[in-house]
Amino acid sequence: MRSSRHPLIEGFCGACKPADRRPPWQWCEEHVHVDETSPLPGRWRSDASPWVRAVMEDFANNTVRDIAVQCAAQSAKTQTVMNCACWAIAEDPGPAMWVTATKDELRDFLRDRLTPTFETCRPVKERMAEPTLTGFAFDGMPFYAGWSGSKARLQSKPIRWLFCDEVRNYPPGRLEMVLKRTRSFWNSRRFLISTPGTKGDAMDTAYRAGDQRVWQFECPACQRLQPLAFEQLKWDSNDTTKPEGKWRFDALAETVRFECVGCEHRIKDTPVDRRWIENHGRFEPQNPNAPRSRVSYTWNALLPHWIEWRSIVEEFLAAVDAMRIEGDIEPMFTFVTETLGEPWDLDRWLVTSDDYVQQRKGDYDFGDPWPLEKTRFLAADRQARGGEHYFWVARAFRAGRGQPADRIWSLQHHFRTGGSAPATERPGRQRDDRHGLQGVRGVPVLPGDGLEGDEGR
Ligand SMILES: [Zn+2]
Repeated sequence: MRSSRHPLIEGFCGACKPADRRPPWQWCEEHVHVDETSPLPGRWRSDASPWVRAVMEDFANNTVRDIAVQCAAQSAKTQTVMNCACWAIAEDPGPAMWVTATKDELRDFLRDRLTPTFETCRPVKERMAEPTLTGFAFDGMPFYAGWSGSKARLQSKPIRWLFCDEVRNYPPGRLEMVLKRTRSFWNSRRFLISTPGTKGDAMDTAYRAGDQRVWQFECPACQRLQPLAFEQLKWDSNDTTKPEGKWRFDALAETVRFECVGCEHRIKDTPVDRRWIENHGRFEPQNPNAPRSRVSYTWNALLPHWIEWRSIVEEFLAAVDAMRIEGDIEPMFTFVTETLGEPWDLDRWLVTSDDYVQQRKGDYDFGDPWPLEKTRFLAADRQARGGEHYFWVARAFRAGRGQPADRIWSLQHHFRTGGSAPATERPGRQRDDRHGLQGVRGVPVLPGDGLEGDEGR
């Protein structure tokens, strides 16, 4: 029904509406509804995911300009951003833009999530005009929708409220492009949220530029404050949980627990215990050098009470097997980024797990010269399964005294190698060396470049 008041008076009354001073999460508890596809449909409640309250409070704080959330998948992240969008439309309107990674994602997201959320939020619905070609319109407030591949949309109008979803999948340079759209507003907010990608990418850089708030909780036994680290998730490996070298997951699940890093107090993998943790923690900043205007958050899949820890352990063990047996690192990448909520760092998962390599690495850094280097070579081993890929090692020979053939044999014995593969600088000399060694010790030799050898493969 149209108001009988003069439009000017109507506008004046709207401008004088007392601001709702509640934090956005309280406002959302009254106005936001979660659809049936969620595990917790109905009116949105912050006690279902209490850790997002802090993020939403920052969203309403005009001294904060950048919010970067790098976290596990399926942990309330998109709902949190939609809540903030509803609050902004109703309580502090200004030009807004939502950016997804791809066009298809944008279409599905608008249809399945954002439109239903706006439609069921009364204060938002009341301001809603006909949808536009590029998104929505609310009483004098455009709400654009775009995807990271569409240059034209990213470079359009000035934006006050910018929401960037799943940033890890943006093409290089696009995040930087869209961030420029907020320059003309002193009180703009740039809200980036994503599962992590690779160490050093745009999302990781944004997270590290912020104050890096890590979710921590107090041990109920010794009160030590600690992160909910995956390393503290423990399980038993014995004849019951792993008979004949194969995991029996139901038996394993009985033994899964979180052990306090200080007193080894055990917290069980039950909904009640997981909820207890969720309600006894807070975010602790790790980067005191960040400006006040840049906040960043991270949490992993151990935090939401609806994720069983046993499922995390099962995923991890399957990923370890895939890496070890199949040579396939994809499941480990997914585990680290989507479950641990950490950017992928090859060094951490493939090299630093091996102390031997770590000790020998010394101070060497990639690109450093190799002292006394004469010849450098790369050995690669093609893997049979998991798609075409190779294990490889780059080495160098340096000038020095050679070793007699029986010394090679003792080294072979010492390192328990099945066979060794001497290489020669000049392929022409290889045949003699190989026959000499084979004659004495039965050592196979790889053929040199351009030579057809007996051991060639
Ligand atoms: Zn403790």
